[in-house]
Amino acid sequence: MSFDAVVVGAGPGGAFSAYWLAKNGLKVLLLEKKRLPRFKLCGGCLSARVVSLLPEGWQGLVKAVIREGTFGYRGEESFSLPSEKPLAYIVDRAEFDYFLVQKAQQVGVELWQECELLGFEERGRIKVYTSKGEVEADFLIGADGFYSKTADLLGYKKKKFFRS
Ligand SMILES: Cc1cc2nc3c(=O)[nH]c(=O)nc-3n(C[C@H](O)[C@H](O)[C@H](O)COP(=O)(O)OP(=O)(O)OC[C@H]3O[C@@H](n4cnc5c(N)ncnc54)[C@H](O)[C@@H]3O)c2cc1C
Repeated sequence: MSFDAVVVGAGPGGAFSAYWLAKNGLKVLLLEKKRLPRFKLCGGCLSARVVSLLPEGWQGLVKAVIREGTFGYRGEESFSLPSEKPLAYIVDRAEFDYFLVQKAQQVGVELWQECELLGFEERGRIKVYTSKGEVEADFLIGADGFYSKTADLLGYKKKKFFRS
């Protein structure tokens, strides 16, 4: 099977890349190793600065609107700054990520879930090996998160880890 682009990982990075590529006429395959909707450890806080980029319908996913920031130091002193406009929105990541994937599917993205990237080879076009078979593409986008297999295969090494 042949695609213009294969996107690895159906988090917000991958789903949204796939959405925009397909919206601009490309034939796109989105790979996700888990079954969707999948749990993602995250605070689910969306900055108000990004929401203008989101596809129509995101408002229905909002659990809470943040209108105030509180700054503190060692629990001793704190102050709050309220805002007239919303500063951020809280969403559930399983729902939010799946919403973006469904939007991508609506503009023609093919989704293979429970399907893992195993490897790839560049020979003119890119041969992509997945747990559900082999496909060819002109572009491969690695959006497979912190433990990115795509990045590993490309030789990127994480140099610094911080405990937090
Ligand atoms: C505790 C915590 C709290 C956070 N809170 C916030 C917050 O409030 N606001 C905020 O903006 N950010 C927050 N973040 C950061 C945020 O979660 C990440 O920046 C975001 O999830 C990155 O999105 P992504 O699409 O790049 O990757 P991910 O969301 O990690 O998605 C990667 C996807 O790739 C899939 N995948 C991995 N390997 C493969 C493979 N080989 N083949 C196929 N699929 C694969 C995974 O299953 C996953 O679905 C938080 C993070 C943590 C850990």
